[in-house]
Amino acid sequence: MRLIDLRSDTVTRPTPAMREAMFRAEVGDDVMGEDPTVNRLERMVADMFGCEAAVFACSGTQSNQMAVRLHCIPGDELLIHESSHICNFEAGAPAALSGVTVRTLTGGGGMLDISDLEGKVRVNDQHFCRTQLVCLENTTNLGGGRVYPLAQLQQVSAWAQAAGLKRHLDGARLFNALVAGQYTAADVARCFDTISICFSKGLGCPVGSMLLGSAADMAKARRIRKLFGGGLRQSGMLAAAAIHALEHHVDRLADDHLHARQLAAGFQRLNGVTGIASSIETNLVFFELAPEIGTAVQFAGAMRDRGVLIGPMGGQRVRVVTHIDVSADDVQTTLTAAADAFQQGFRDRPIQGKGPFSR
Ligand SMILES: *Cc1c(COP(=O)(O)O)cnc(C)c1O
Repeated sequence: MRLIDLRSDTVTRPTPAMREAMFRAEVGDDVMGEDPTVNRLERMVADMFGCEAAVFACSGTQSNQMAVRLHCIPGDELLIHESSHICNFEAGAPAALSGVTVRTLTGGGGMLDISDLEGKVRVNDQHFCRTQLVCLENTTNLGGGRVYPLAQLQQVSAWAQAAGLKRHLDGARLFNALVAGQYTAADVARCFDTISICFSKGLGCPVGSMLLGSAADMAKARRIRKLFGGGLRQSGMLAAAAIHALEHHVDRLADDHLHARQLAAGFQRLNGVTGIASSIETNLVFFELAPEIGTAVQFAGAMRDRGVLIGPMGGQRVRVVTHIDVSADDVQTTLTAAADAFQQGFRDRPIQGKGPFSR
């Protein structure tokens, strides 16, 4: 039985057309700068963002951590939202790879504005670490797929610049923000020193991320990528997938957003589901199950029995994610399965295993 997989937008498989593009890719040794397809992708994305240069990376974790290492030295501190990927889901990398302390802040929807940041830059004194970098996430992941308004990005950016901080954007789902939002890649790029994007989420590639910034910074980032084990050789096969995705899979993200809104509306109607955001802006939907209904892990088990995989996020919290491999029919099948699971009940279901983010 084919499972409908709503656990993440990382589960997508390359389409036949993408595989064909990968198969046909012209390749060379990229560590020697000789892979024409990687070079073409880096130029293409840099131009799209109006940046001087770009560096292809293995993963969003790698491109984010290249930025941390680029902007900071051991003993420095970065400012970031407490729910962000960089500090929760990257295996402690700021400390482990760069000797950097993470100062976590709170703010609505996984986003930070100036009022959340003000007063958080430490004074220049030998007692303190040096506050050096601010990182934002757009769209927010645990924040619920929220899209930063451009004005907020511009305000935080101007504030950070005035405070002498570097600015990095974790744009793993930036294309979702661009499709949902009112601004262009170049508008966003003007607000940051570096931006990380992912091809392996909603864009549907098997592998690949990218760091963007100035030519001087990207020359340093390339060395850091090698240090972090990301110097790839005939990676043009991966870059070809990314080029194909940029040409064919960006506009269709709007379908994922429509499907997420439909799922949210359907789950909202189930008695015992709470906490669905009033506005689903992109492809992530979070909700809570009332304790008397059962736990998120039990619900995930009941849904799996019905051919649908969902993401238990610990306790009562559930995440469902739409992507290129989720069709309009899959949305209806999912909602029918959920209604049936709620009707049959799953509170007494034995708990087998645990969700990836569950304790
Ligand atoms: C997925 C994701 C990343 C990168 O994850 P990788 O699996 O390392 O590619 C970075 N930031 C956010 C917000 C993400 O959701």
